[in-house]
Amino acid sequence: MITKALTQNEHQLAHRIHTLHQQAGTHPTNILHLLERIPEINLKIDACFLSNPYATDLVMDYLKRDLLQQPHRFRALLERYPSQNHILGSILSKILDLPAEMLFAGNGAAEIIHAVLHNFAQQRAMIILPTFSAFYEFLPLHVQALFHTLDKQDHFNLDLTRLLKDIQQRKPDTLVLINPNNPNGGYCDRQNIESLLDALQSLPLIIIDESFIHFSYEHQQFDVYHSAINLVEKYKNLIIIKSLSKDFGVAGLRAGFAVMHPKRVQQLVERGYLWNVSGLAEWFLRLLAQEEFQQRYEPIRQHYIQHTGHFFKQLGNLEPIFKTYPSKANFILLEILNGMSAWDLTALLLIRHGIYVRNCDDKKGLESGEFVRIAARTKEENQQVLYALNGLYSKR
Ligand SMILES: *Cc1c(COP(=O)(O)O)cnc(C)c1O
Repeated sequence: MITKALTQNEHQLAHRIHTLHQQAGTHPTNILHLLERIPEINLKIDACFLSNPYATDLVMDYLKRDLLQQPHRFRALLERYPSQNHILGSILSKILDLPAEMLFAGNGAAEIIHAVLHNFAQQRAMIILPTFSAFYEFLPLHVQALFHTLDKQDHFNLDLTRLLKDIQQRKPDTLVLINPNNPNGGYCDRQNIESLLDALQSLPLIIIDESFIHFSYEHQQFDVYHSAINLVEKYKNLIIIKSLSKDFGVAGLRAGFAVMHPKRVQQLVERGYLWNVSGLAEWFLRLLAQEEFQQRYEPIRQHYIQHTGHFFKQLGNLEPIFKTYPSKANFILLEILNGMSAWDLTALLLIRHGIYVRNCDDKKGLESGEFVRIAARTKEENQQVLYALNGLYSKR
């Protein structure tokens, strides 16, 4: 048990946080909203939000140079309409080295998830649990969710044989796979992705969400990540969705993209996704297409992965109080083994240490209430998170 229980005052705060959480539904309470409503909280570290903070610094540099220091350009961006989706497709084409006709820009990946499910899913969508809740929440009413639950005993690994058997038995028309998966960070390597796609060529739709692929690696140099975007030309039933919020640390911009068969891109544009991306997000896409930016981003990405791995290792040393699950994303799932609930741990960390983590007890497949998800932040912030977790259990 925790050695230092909540005081009366802390209990009251915890209760108010809990009420806000319940109002927020299946996504964590936005931290700014939380601070507005409960100003007593002294937030120091947002380890709930899954982004690379060093990448945000880099984007800020360019934002200052391109817009803040050039008000006439900023004004034009405000005043005018942004480009239509096919123009953004040609910008993405430079970034991804794929034909523009296969590329679709979205107002965040969340919009694309909605668009794809509503336009291309038929009747039965298989969703792997635990998952990013939008994939079942955004399903249109006529599409049924079939849940395939990962086995905790197997460390939430994706067992392809078991998945294929389940698909054969329950016959979905759509499969959703997040790689690396959110919220556990489990990773399916390139070879297994290809085997899966080979085995499922007759499935009408396979969606792979690669929002965290920049944080994955298959060998310890971290210099390559294996996106499946170049497999879309070969597998016509494949759609890759990718958020840019997490790897570039720019969730406020709302930018994401998808790679899919040209016919599908055309259908989406015809059905209303024409000016769906804001001018600021367009500025960002143009920035991504610049070689100089990419050259500066790459070492930041690798450096972040490196110290994220180090952080995860240190969290692993907190056994036997916590158990960690294998992750190749920038967050890790922590199971609390000493009887404390995820909710109590979340409240305690926030109230006492100003550290916000993701209580996962509202996530399908993790309702047992012992799981929190912790994001890697800066090196210094990670150290403070470790310090706080260690401190919770130190003897008085
Ligand atoms: C955060 C997240 C998204 C949504 O990202 P936005 O681009 O910010 O809308 C989509 N998929 C997964 C797996 C995510 O974690």
